[in-house]
Amino acid sequence: MTTSDTQVAVIGGGVVGCAVAHALARRGVEAVVLEAERGLALGASGANSGILHTGFDSAPGELETRLLLRSAELRTELLDELAVPVWRCGARLAASNEDELQAISPLAENARANGVEAHLDPDGSLTVPGEAVTDPVAFVHALASGAQRGGATVRLGAAVGRIRAATRGALTLELAGGERLRARAAVNCAGLFADEVARMAGDDFFSIYPRKGEFIVFAPPAGEGLQRILLPVPSPIGKGVLVFPTIDGYVVAGPTAREREDKCDWSVEGDAETLILDRARRMYPALERSRQVDAYAGLRPAGRAVNYLIEFSRALPELLHVAAIRSTGLSASLGIGEHVVGLLADRALVAPVRARRLPSRDRPSPTGGWWQRAARHHAPHAERGTA
Ligand SMILES: Cc1cc2nc3c(=O)[nH]c(=O)nc-3n(C[C@H](O)[C@H](O)[C@H](O)COP(=O)(O)OP(=O)(O)OC[C@H]3O[C@@H](n4cnc5c(N)ncnc54)[C@H](O)[C@@H]3O)c2cc1C
Repeated sequence: MTTSDTQVAVIGGGVVGCAVAHALARRGVEAVVLEAERGLALGASGANSGILHTGFDSAPGELETRLLLRSAELRTELLDELAVPVWRCGARLAASNEDELQAISPLAENARANGVEAHLDPDGSLTVPGEAVTDPVAFVHALASGAQRGGATVRLGAAVGRIRAATRGALTLELAGGERLRARAAVNCAGLFADEVARMAGDDFFSIYPRKGEFIVFAPPAGEGLQRILLPVPSPIGKGVLVFPTIDGYVVAGPTAREREDKCDWSVEGDAETLILDRARRMYPALERSRQVDAYAGLRPAGRAVNYLIEFSRALPELLHVAAIRSTGLSASLGIGEHVVGLLADRALVAPVRARRLPSRDRPSPTGGWWQRAARHHAPHAERGTA
């Protein structure tokens, strides 16, 4: 059994954990990302819509909204530094009936309240030019390698199994396999399993469940690729089924939103097509002529009665939970990273230093078919060893 030391241990190598590690590295704080899987972004972060939301429709003043808006401010500089592929294609939100039409001007007002550019068009639809798509797997890898260039370490196959107080205001994290890591502070970014990690420390004040979202992927006919994101008018239960282009020319319809209990069931359920296709074809009739090439599901790490829980442990003062980042974590990740460093600095767990620019890297080629990676990994009987 070996023991090593670090300043901050980040539990989880999804977009949130990697953004936290990147924000720490930008401030010269030594961090180790501990990821249970053999690859990064194999949870929700690798199986989502890949949309960088502006926050135009988010409730003004909420933490989620503040972090989305802050991310949007940080994005231009950071995504350039990270060389992440982003297509700022914009989005259009159109009503399909009179009730929905009535709901659009309040959304325009909401966008204004959040300071997000949005235009009401003569036909009553809303255009949001700042909405963008990215390759979310490349996004996470870019954050992780940026963090590594700033001195962070990324450990794969490193599942945290136990957390306890160590001497002199530090924590000991025990990995499956027995290895121990001593850290001045730890940040719990374990997504769907953040409640289980919290329980390791003695916290049971929140719980996380999977909110499944399924998607269908299409290859559009030549010359008929989708040029912007098509959004439905959101309902009280969620953003609804949208249709969006991927960075590499596919068109995706989804997601569904199903409350589930099994954190390991990544299946696309039998009625997913029925739930998605009618609505999607109404929004984008060219889907009728498009070839269906794939389907995938992602599990949103949803909190029971809580969203964006970013709070210190009630049992161990050096442990910060960043949990229930349910639906917008890709978009808000840069703001989350900055916010987390601020909270750690307020508690004197890291020094309050200004961010520095890390060395850029060459622009990577898009990973292509990014959604297949997590879907294949979680398929029954899949090879779990590599990713
Ligand atoms: C269907 C769907 C559509 C979405 N669309 C969008 C979108 O368009 N735009 C957007 O901004 N957001 C979107 N989201 C939300 C976004 O994907 C999530 O908010 C984000 O991925 C959450 O990231 P995370 O790092 O918290 O969790 P995860 O990505 O799940 O990462 C958590 C990581 O922790 C690891 N882990 C767990 N337990 C341990 C342990 N004990 N030790 C070590 N590691 C551990 C896991 O293996 C995992 O890799 C969508 C999500 C879904 C599912």
